[in-house]
Amino acid sequence: MEPLSDIDLPHYQLYINGSWVDSLDGATMQVNEPALGSPMAVVARGTAADVDRAVRSARTAFDHGPWPHTPPHERSRILHAIADAVEEHTDTLAELESRNLGAPLRKTLFVDVPWAIEHLRTFADLARRSPYEPLPWIDTPSVSWNFVWRDPIGVCGQIIPWNYPLLMAVWKIAPALATGNTIVLKPASYTPLTALTLINIIHETGLLPNGVLNLVTGPGGSVGEAMARHPDVDKIAFTGSTEIGQKVMEWGSASIKRVTLELGGKSPSVVLPDADLELATDGVLFGVFFNAGQSCEAGTRCFVPETLHDEFLERLIHRAQGMRVGDPLNLETDIGPLVSDSQCATVEAYIALGKQEGALLATGGRRVQVTDFARGPFIEPTIFTRVQNHMRLAQEEIFGPVLSIIPYRTVTEAIELANTNIYGLGAAVWSRDIQGAIDVAKRIRSGTIWINDYHLINPLAPFGGYKQSGIGREHGISGMLSYTEEKHIHVDLMQNREGRIWWDALLPPKD
Ligand code: NAD
Ligand code: MN
Repeated sequence: MEPLSDIDLPHYQLYINGSWVDSLDGATMQVNEPALGSPMAVVARGTAADVDRAVRSARTAFDHGPWPHTPPHERSRILHAIADAVEEHTDTLAELESRNLGAPLRKTLFVDVPWAIEHLRTFADLARRSPYEPLPWIDTPSVSWNFVWRDPIGVCGQIIPWNYPLLMAVWKIAPALATGNTIVLKPASYTPLTALTLINIIHETGLLPNGVLNLVTGPGGSVGEAMARHPDVDKIAFTGSTEIGQKVMEWGSASIKRVTLELGGKSPSVVLPDADLELATDGVLFGVFFNAGQSCEAGTRCFVPETLHDEFLERLIHRAQGMRVGDPLNLETDIGPLVSDSQCATVEAYIALGKQEGALLATGGRRVQVTDFARGPFIEPTIFTRVQNHMRLAQEEIFGPVLSIIPYRTVTEAIELANTNIYGLGAAVWSRDIQGAIDVAKRIRSGTIWINDYHLINPLAPFGGYKQSGIGREHGISGMLSYTEEKHIHVDLMQNREGRIWWDALLPPKD
């Protein structure tokens, strides 16, 4: 097949100050469709100069526009209307997400888009919470009425990864809009299409003032870095690798930016001796292979009691071998292609490394040739066993369909091994004894722990990482408040001068 020329492909521009515009230098870049291994769209290739334009637009909208002072109930109404508009485009968004990321349509249609809508609605509701918070009665040293007022922070730079493109965009913009901030959003270069479509859906509602929401596509190394360094960006919310997160923090220090980071993970899935093995089998596989293993919270290290190892492994292999790898647009598909050839090469390198380190390849481990999708980077669901927690296979984030089984002897040992990792994002505990499972959950150092489940990330519950998995939380009240500055307002209630502390410090004027 001849490579498609740019002319045949849909074109997307940058969104700045309420208009779609080309990058200043007119440069573009192609976006790939992983299953086909061919380009599906052309997007603007922004530069630092485009970031500067977008930041100025967001700055002006914040400093001089109505948005930060729009009453919360009005912002709530607008977010609900945006959620309705997104819902009307469910099929378009799901198909586009499947084509651009390679994720199975069953997931994009029934998980990604509905969760994105639910997220918007949740923050539409939370937006109605008054930014006023009363403080306890204060009469020392003077009688006064004190309260906390929540202000939006200002211009928020939001940088997102390629693995859940629509959800990540919504997770970023919903709380920022709910609280009255203005935004410059940068999608990942592999998968910008649903974020671009989302912004266009919002544009067509005509509900946001110009400049409140801006989007710049372009390479992370130029556009992302320019955002993270820009002195007029007040907050950076970054989701991506720990490596880039470290830089974002460092760059933000120059202007004391508020920084929240959602970074990598190597999450443990701990099967306790009394687990329902049938449930745990499917749950562990769902925990690791959902989205072809390209989830930051994926349960990639499975701790199994030595005594159950053989039986459990047999169940896992049986079910993993039945998973259907193939066309993402087929509703029967469980695992689509990885996002790119380079991601595939990384995963293959880790599979080779695992063998070299002495782990046993129990199933999978090969690239799959899918009929009609010869160029798609598909990898079999892969399980290694007899993995030791110190191996790189068990310590480093792979971001592909690779599970490591680590046998343990005592639960204490399992907990210690689970915690022996630089990350702390997710975890699961599989057990019939809920009280016992909660005790284990309390001792695992991760931001989210599922008991007998996986991946269920709720917009009302805080989500984020311990250790090098990040700083701050998204979702819920704390996620929303991370887009606000806390302002104490003190209103004096004394009627006379003598009752005030001034009396001690300052004598009355002589005349
Ligand atoms: P990445 O860090 O390379 O990229 C993330 C984003 O940062 C992209 O938009 C990218 O263009 C941009 N970027 C790249 N270089 C940059 C730079 N020098 N300056 C500023 N921005 C830059 O990560 P990735 O490869 O896209 O995504 C995979 C990683 O993201 C994994 O480590 C995964 O665990 C993590 N992740 C975390 C979460 C979470 O919520 N904790 C969610 C999804 C992904
Ligand atoms: Mn990267």
